[in-house]
Amino acid sequence: MKILIFILFLTAVMVFSAMAVSETEDNVKAENAFMQAALDEAYAGITAKHGGPFGSVIVKDGEIVGQGHNRVLINNDPTCHGEIDAIRRTCAALGTYDLSGCELYTTGEPCPMCLFACLWANIDRVYYGCTIEDNSIIGFRDEALDELTGGRDKLSDYLICMDREACLVLFNAYISMEHTSY
Ligand SMILES: [Zn+2]
Repeated sequence: MKILIFILFLTAVMVFSAMAVSETEDNVKAENAFMQAALDEAYAGITAKHGGPFGSVIVKDGEIVGQGHNRVLINNDPTCHGEIDAIRRTCAALGTYDLSGCELYTTGEPCPMCLFACLWANIDRVYYGCTIEDNSIIGFRDEALDELTGGRDKLSDYLICMDREACLVLFNAYISMEHTSY
């Protein structure tokens, strides 16, 4: 009898632990599958020390047609942000300079350079996780540079925030790991 109670107790502990783990994983997963793909791209980038915690995917007709992440450090290229990397790779793969009909998902609100690159590429809409204020918390100057261009008040239909919570977990992971600030 004692053994049976012990086994039941052990089973309960195991079930509870499994639930706790899956709950934690759910908290860091994005609700949107494309944003999750952008997060996976960003995690790959910071793990490889390529640059900041910014991953992007480009979607056309419900499918990912290209993706990229920040490679500023690995390429010694201050313009190689996640969105730019994704745009370059997608255009090369599709053999076009025109991404009309595409949407971009990115872990952080685009800086002025990337925002205008998206507009130049004719990307229909941009979904971002962390806000430009969040970007400044982890040491990036997006907000200061944004003030130079007069803000983005007219772009509320173009820039849509989603899955901020999951993207903030990414930013916190970046803060807690050894990294080069730039
Ligand atoms: Zn950028």
